[in-house]
Amino acid sequence: MKVLLHISKPSGSANILEHWRRSSGFWNRLLVFAMFSLLVIAIGHTAESKALSTDGQESPSTSSATEKSVPARLSLSERLSSRFMEAFDADRKQLAEQVQPIDVPYALVRGTFHFHSHFSHDSIGTLEEIVLAAKATGTQIIGLTEHPSRAVDVVAENVKGWHDGVYFLAGTESKNQLHWPGHEAEAELRFVCHPEEVPTFDLTLYEGMEIYNTHSDVKDEPISALIVAMLLNLSTVQEHPEAAFCSFFDYPQDFLARFDRLTAHTRFAGIAGNDSHQNQRLKLVAHADGSIEAFDGTNEQVWKAEGLKAKLLMAALGQSNPPAEKKILANVQLDPYETSMRHVGTFLQLKNGQAINEHSVREALRQGRAILGFELIAPLPAVGFWV
Ligand SMILES: [Zn+2]
Ligand SMILES: [Zn+2]
Repeated sequence: MKVLLHISKPSGSANILEHWRRSSGFWNRLLVFAMFSLLVIAIGHTAESKALSTDGQESPSTSSATEKSVPARLSLSERLSSRFMEAFDADRKQLAEQVQPIDVPYALVRGTFHFHSHFSHDSIGTLEEIVLAAKATGTQIIGLTEHPSRAVDVVAENVKGWHDGVYFLAGTESKNQLHWPGHEAEAELRFVCHPEEVPTFDLTLYEGMEIYNTHSDVKDEPISALIVAMLLNLSTVQEHPEAAFCSFFDYPQDFLARFDRLTAHTRFAGIAGNDSHQNQRLKLVAHADGSIEAFDGTNEQVWKAEGLKAKLLMAALGQSNPPAEKKILANVQLDPYETSMRHVGTFLQLKNGQAINEHSVREALRQGRAILGFELIAPLPAVGFWV
């Protein structure tokens, strides 16, 4: 087993004024900004946060806190500017070249927990796409957590155990709880997810909590500003998709402070919630009649512009006249599975010589033998632990 550990902070700063000066069509961009403010209101955000409700219960062993993660220091426009993203990628490349392999006796196995597929109402991701992303990122264990459905038993129907070289746990996400029901004589597992939504909970009901959640992390950014900044820097976002993905990354200091308090006197596991959906897409289609439609990640039309509005928007996106036939002006998948999986991994330490199976995976999760690695921040092809 080889190991590398890096902690780094991307360098490079962006001068947004210079960026605006360099960019063509100031008024067009301003117009896009205004119009997309409207678009974003129409698109709204994944309904997930609305569906989540606080489910805390008071008990003698209750945890209590109110987390608010702190937005990153630079503005969104700065973080998504070409100068910043180029510097970010250059730093990652340089770090990758500095990696020195070290032999370690206790290997950790990369896992991804809190994951949605087409069994969830807000994702159309397929098993094949998940397996491809797992292989691309070296992920061996995936803890599926679908939103429950009345139409189908998402645990019974979902993949479990080995599938094409990847090990799956089938579970649900409901009311701020990740739940993997008992399977193959192994007991169920429960984790608090989105802890910022759960000011109190009964520690005895859970094996652990998320100490990072991608969706929680992005929630503290003004979502309309995030999308507008992405559109204003669209070509850069497409050139640097991973740097763009982690533009919202913040150190989860409140989650970690709470976790520290909880684990001062008792064992409680900490995992990362990837909260992968592969459903954040920006797709704009121009039509011959001069209208523009916007589609979300599940291919639902979420907005339509006609007349002057559509004409101005087309011009801003480089289309001076309506196309002869329907034309895609922009189509960006912001959260492909591979990227959200690579962003953060939960590495489980299996006991020496243990194979990946229902027992070893659940035991490691229950006992909190896990560490988190953020590969989009710094290269992390392998990790290990020794004392
Ligand atoms: Zn969801
Ligand atoms: Zn989720």
